[in-house]
Amino acid sequence: MDSNYSESLLATRGGVPTIRSKAELRDALSDTRADGRSVGLVPTMGCLHQGHLSLLRAAHAECDVVVMSLFVNPTQFGPDEDLDRYPRDEERDARLAADAGAALIYAPAVEEVYPSGFATQVEVSGDLSQVLDGDPARRGARHFRGVATIVAKLFNTVQPDVAYFGQKDAQQAVLIRRMARDLDFPVRIEVLPTVREADGLAMSSRNSYLGEEDRRRAAALSRALRAAEQGARAGSLTTGLAAARRQLAAAGIEPEYLEARDAEELSPAVELNGRPILIAVAAQIGGARLIDNVLIQP
Ligand code: AMP
Repeated sequence: MDSNYSESLLATRGGVPTIRSKAELRDALSDTRADGRSVGLVPTMGCLHQGHLSLLRAAHAECDVVVMSLFVNPTQFGPDEDLDRYPRDEERDARLAADAGAALIYAPAVEEVYPSGFATQVEVSGDLSQVLDGDPARRGARHFRGVATIVAKLFNTVQPDVAYFGQKDAQQAVLIRRMARDLDFPVRIEVLPTVREADGLAMSSRNSYLGEEDRRRAAALSRALRAAEQGARAGSLTTGLAAARRQLAAAGIEPEYLEARDAEELSPAVELNGRPILIAVAAQIGGARLIDNVLIQP
């Protein structure tokens, strides 16, 4: 990290400077840019787990300076969602991020990101925003407007050479790739595999909402996706999805959705067709709404 960071600008926690404003961030990265060194960005909402850390480690291996953003973005939460109780532990996050190779944390207040009069939204139109989680009956396109807008702002603020996202949020990753391409952001998007617990449950900050019994049941999501993939490869997508539904039913889980889609266009997929297919699931399990997916490569 640059040695001439102004200490007055930075609150150092657990060894990683935490920056609160866009101006300070520009300042902190100015020498890095002048020297032609590369910047990697890992956007997060904090409450770090091994999934986040895998992104930070990959960024650290590939980029000269790694910026982790830590911002629980209110505009991607619906009115009935968990914004207020979303887990937050900045000190722990700073320690873990430092160990995984982050050089600094950008953790702005809501007013820094959305000042009074803020009126601009980024929307990736069509299927990408309106199916699966974006279906109006579910989280709705509003969720992905919130995501696209905050990520576009982070790309402009941090100006990373590479930005890292998790396959866990498959629809988000597809949408961000499309936005970056459509709006000519000069950034390479890397999407890395989902990191799982020993029983297959995809790591998520929201897993902390699960009681013991629900935590055990939640492993059925990844079992169902494995069954879907095996069934699809052995027979058809239809038999794969049926096998997945059986796994969910056995655990008493009624999915919000369980769907097969083209992995790039998110159009419905009825058969394996030589293109990557995404099988995605969402379910409310106890106090947590969880999502997971498997990518079937041809
Ligand atoms: P979040 O803090 O939940 O907004 O996630 C920040 C980033 O970490 C996103 O790009 C997520 O897709 C990614 N991520 C979350 N969970 C996992 C996981 N289990 N494995 C890999 N990446 C993940």
